[in-house]
Amino acid sequence: MQITSMPDSDDPDALASLSLDEVVVCHECDLLMRKPELSKGEKAHCPRCGYELYTQRHNVVGRSLALVLTALLLYIPANFLPIMQLHLLGQTSNDTVWSGVLGLYNADMHSIAVVVFLCSMAIPLLKLLCQLVVLLSIRLDVNRSFGLLSYRIYHHLRDWGMLEVYLMGVLVAIVKLVDMAEVTLGLGLFCFIGLLLIQVWLEVVMSPHQIWVALSGEDTHAGD
Ligand SMILES: [Zn+2]
Repeated sequence: MQITSMPDSDDPDALASLSLDEVVVCHECDLLMRKPELSKGEKAHCPRCGYELYTQRHNVVGRSLALVLTALLLYIPANFLPIMQLHLLGQTSNDTVWSGVLGLYNADMHSIAVVVFLCSMAIPLLKLLCQLVVLLSIRLDVNRSFGLLSYRIYHHLRDWGMLEVYLMGVLVAIVKLVDMAEVTLGLGLFCFIGLLLIQVWLEVVMSPHQIWVALSGEDTHAGD
């Protein structure tokens, strides 16, 4: 069950006497308030604007690790198995994400090929590897400083992995090609959609507040 918890928004004098790790600021409206103590399954909302400050989820590390490993397993078929098969004028072509990058490069669109490669293949993989390092450093209780660095890198990369944009492009291309040629959807497309959904799920499960607390060593039971 999820319970909503409202932190106290105290008067300025009371807040001034608290140390920095006892207060929290709302990301949306900048309200300063006393940090609430949450139990598992509870959420803290800003009393002024209703923004969700953070959530205390159950078994964050174990569930996130399972999702990261699933995403990594899906990564290879998603990029190297055919997204679609195109039958046109007696010819059949199998198109994968990787063959799309090579096709752009060979068509002298080098800069576009590099952008597509970075946003649809390299950065999503790097993000997953950063998340894996973060979770393993918490679970195994080793090298937290490298875990912290990886989590910072992950936050910088978040805006650059654009799988959903790539997927929209593929779907639009399929819809347009259906009238011109015989199109068969490939296993790669379903793996690609699966990878995208797992990553969205991972964003929800891997609560940033709990991960930062665990990496800084404040929660000694985070990896249990
Ligand atoms: Zn607020």
